[in-house]
Amino acid sequence: MPADSVNRVVFDERFERLVPAGARVEWLARGAIWAEGPVYVPDEDAVVWSDVRSDRVHHWTAADGDRTLYAPGDFANGHTLDRDGRVLACEHGLRRVARYEADGSRTTIVDRYQGHRLNSPNDLVVASDGAIWFTDPPYGILDDTEGQQAESELGGCFVFRFDRGTGELSVVSDEMEHPNGLAFSPDESALYVSDTSAARVPGGNHHILAFDVVDGSRGLANPRTFVAMEPGFADGLRVDVEGNVWTSAGDGIHVLDADGVELGRILLPEVASNCVFGGRDGRRLFVTATSSLWSVEVGIRGVATPWV
Ligand code: MG
Repeated sequence: MPADSVNRVVFDERFERLVPAGARVEWLARGAIWAEGPVYVPDEDAVVWSDVRSDRVHHWTAADGDRTLYAPGDFANGHTLDRDGRVLACEHGLRRVARYEADGSRTTIVDRYQGHRLNSPNDLVVASDGAIWFTDPPYGILDDTEGQQAESELGGCFVFRFDRGTGELSVVSDEMEHPNGLAFSPDESALYVSDTSAARVPGGNHHILAFDVVDGSRGLANPRTFVAMEPGFADGLRVDVEGNVWTSAGDGIHVLDADGVELGRILLPEVASNCVFGGRDGRRLFVTATSSLWSVEVGIRGVATPWV
């Protein structure tokens, strides 16, 4: 696969350290219809990622390249690691959060709220207390391209918190039209959640909201606009150890500080959907972008890089 130097836009000198000039960009895999949901698996030095619209989950390593992990993959979208290092997936097909098991099976973690089926969980993050926070927009039930068309049983799109100790699923935000990517600040005092409803609803939202995490890390308060995305949408996003937000956008990856000041951009030739920090030293950003999986050398680690 070709390697090249990063194509950047620098708005603030702080970006020079985050994404140095000449940083290596690699085109790792191609041929997807809608690449999404990357997670770095440190035990395997691998990236697990989704091609949502092909209903496949991929597994990439430097040694073995890209292969299919699941096909069909229940229209998997976002992935993350739990506190035990196992891969969790949002699946549109079975409208659930699932766990990938060592024997290749997939186990339901949660698929209902007060007896009603979820819409189509999209992306998720695990807090330091082990709780799973996830978004539930309608993209897997609007038509058959990313799941199966169906009526919403919830009558809305929420951000949820699932307490794995008690089994309780609670709504932590009903302020968003189509909540999508999400990530905590390094100290988990704030949660960032993107709203991508403009992708399907004329005049809809294309912004990231920031919330205060309150109530013993069980709730959210004080929603405010963190950034209005342009061009495109903030689909998936991650936070680095210094609190900068790295978000997908129509032209690649935008990097903003914790006050929402844009520091710079990594330009890619495809619309980016999501990203994750990984690599042996934690300083490699893997990006899913339309048909491809890319990586970019960066100068900082993500918040969830316990292997380094
Ligand atoms: Mg998403």
